[in-house]
Amino acid sequence: MPEASVAIVGAGVAGAAAAVRLAERGIAVTLYEAVPEPRPIGAGLLLQPTGQRVLAAMGLLDEALALGVRVDRLFGDTPSGRAVLNMSYQRFHPEAYGLGMQRGALMGLLWKRVRELGVPWHCGAAVEGFEQDAGGVTLRLAGGETVRHSALILANGSFSKLREGMKVAQRARLFPWGAVWTVLPAPPGFPQIELRQRFRSASQMLGLMPVGKAAADDADRGINLFWSLPVAELDGWEKRIGLGHLKQQMADLFPDVAPLLAGLHDAAQLREARYADVHMTRWHDGRVLAIGDCAHGMSPQLGQGANMALIDAHELAAEVGGDWPQTLARYTRRRRAHLRFYAQASRGLTPMFQSHAVVAPWLRDRFFGWGGRLPYIHQQSIATLAGYKTGWLWGRLKL
Ligand SMILES: Cc1cc2nc3c(=O)[nH]c(=O)nc-3n(C[C@H](O)[C@H](O)[C@H](O)COP(=O)(O)OP(=O)(O)OC[C@H]3O[C@@H](n4cnc5c(N)ncnc54)[C@H](O)[C@@H]3O)c2cc1C
Repeated sequence: MPEASVAIVGAGVAGAAAAVRLAERGIAVTLYEAVPEPRPIGAGLLLQPTGQRVLAAMGLLDEALALGVRVDRLFGDTPSGRAVLNMSYQRFHPEAYGLGMQRGALMGLLWKRVRELGVPWHCGAAVEGFEQDAGGVTLRLAGGETVRHSALILANGSFSKLREGMKVAQRARLFPWGAVWTVLPAPPGFPQIELRQRFRSASQMLGLMPVGKAAADDADRGINLFWSLPVAELDGWEKRIGLGHLKQQMADLFPDVAPLLAGLHDAAQLREARYADVHMTRWHDGRVLAIGDCAHGMSPQLGQGANMALIDAHELAAEVGGDWPQTLARYTRRRRAHLRFYAQASRGLTPMFQSHAVVAPWLRDRFFGWGGRLPYIHQQSIATLAGYKTGWLWGRLKL
């Protein structure tokens, strides 16, 4: 009897990429997505050189480049003009760059590939629970139907309830800060080569990133706008803060944003983002594996979440062979150093950029710009941003 297919729960970056990489290796997979009609929405993403390598392995990088924008540097400063971050990809490697993309554009490419590969894909199929035994995994769908698979990959995001069914020590903590964000049409002459950030202490942060087009036939190139807010202020912000006041705060912090803000005229244009810090001692439990944000959700401060999701999918496909419990245990070993480094870096950096702390951002403003001028520190910082580091002192991800 042929082995039942592998179930993947969630058709976000992690789930769709895993479906593609496994199907390309000849593994039968079935995708379950809760949303009845997945539509390409979501924040702008900066895809790092590591994530770009995974897209290249899938044959999708050229199309991604046609939709997105090459980002050469990351620059962040304070209202007094003190440079805090000034990182250039070229100083990491002459041909390196970040790729600013609309999440919808990336999802469009991944979903097209999922369909081309003929992966069975059930939409409006929320998975509510699972049980595993020595021979496979039984999934329970909303509505009561059960389906049998040889293994289960949980790729259903940071707030996954299914993850709790894994016998693995774990914790998921909602970050006290989130954001509102939108993609606005780039005004003529607006800078299109850098990720620009402006901070006041850690309590105000504006981020601007060129993200290109949503689809090939789209005329407009977009700029992703990110505005940090405490989670307590996110709920009902339209009434409590109001769009006019929010725009004024943005323009006060960074007057150059004014031409872009002309395109922001309705509170409904701004989407809310909340994120969780997810920690698991390992990512496998027998025939069940967690990947993407479900396995290691982090704040977007380092711009790594989608990047990590792509790498997870790629590395999982590289470990396939033998029985599933062995494959999944090997995957955990393969991913440990890389994911541990980025979880630690993200936890360490986030309070410097999103918090009511006083000392941490003060140290950031004094020492980041200075340290970044030292070649070794700059090299390490940009290797971190590029998604390559597997340890604080040394260690490089080999893709
Ligand atoms: C504001 C913001 C900015 C960001 N910027 C960057 C960046 O610059 N670079 C970067 O690399 N990353 C960035 N990220 C992170 C990135 O967006 C995420 O890490 C990435 O999208 C996670 O993908 P995922 O597939 O793991 O999870 P998700 O995208 O959350 O997908 C989970 C999917 O599972 C489905 N699902 C949930 N429950 C079930 C269920 N029970 N049954 C079936 N389906 C289910 C959901 O509908 C969803 O489609 C950013 C995130 C935010 C919020």
